[in-house]
Amino acid sequence: MKKLVLLFMTFLSLVSFGKVEKLYVGTNAEFYPFEYLEDGKIVGFDAELIEAIGKKLNKEIIWKNMAFDGLLPALQSKKIDVIIAGMTATPERKKFVNFSDPYFVSNQMIIINTTDEKSKDITSYESLPNHSVGVVLGYTGDVAVSKLENIDVQRFNGASEAIMSLISKKVQAVVIDSEPAKNYVKNNKGLKLISTDIAKEEYSIAVSKENKKLAEDINSAYKELVNDGTFEKLITKYFK
Ligand code: GLN
Repeated sequence: MKKLVLLFMTFLSLVSFGKVEKLYVGTNAEFYPFEYLEDGKIVGFDAELIEAIGKKLNKEIIWKNMAFDGLLPALQSKKIDVIIAGMTATPERKKFVNFSDPYFVSNQMIIINTTDEKSKDITSYESLPNHSVGVVLGYTGDVAVSKLENIDVQRFNGASEAIMSLISKKVQAVVIDSEPAKNYVKNNKGLKLISTDIAKEEYSIAVSKENKKLAEDINSAYKELVNDGTFEKLITKYFK
């Protein structure tokens, strides 16, 4: 009998208190090695980081994969609770959402096609004008390149589309974040990396301005992961 009562109480507590809340997480899984698809599943550095944060907060992660420029509107209209997408915490975006403490420093890089004569004179950010340059719509690379004059900016929905266009010589350069850039160059013969002097960027997790508690919870879970060594293990796994 005692056992039965105990079982019943455990059941009750599970139903009423132990309910795992869902955390809807938006990303654009085309940003290696932060988020990408493997057998249809979203994996990568960001994916593991938010899964670990979810565990600390006792929340189940429900992924929503979408175009990068759809992420902020989805957060504002509450279709998702957070964004983790290698997203740079820019002053412009800070007007609309709250960002967590930064978790990664990055910068923009140029990729050129060495088999394209018209690509070869691109040696810096300043030498991009008078060329067709591919960027991903709404990325910080788009913002940086769009500031230049006399430039033909071609905006793509995803990084791999921009790279395809570079390989087929429709654009003479692509400007994207350093880590995915390194990966595209490693995997495509003839492509070459050029550094830029564009300011460094910091990636953060975005949360709705109305959801202050969630932002605080994410920050404390993140701090715990830094302190218990989980974060460093992830850095080593993906970047060292
Ligand atoms: N860091 C860039 C930005 O925030 C690109 C992010 C991404 O492609 N996922 O715009």
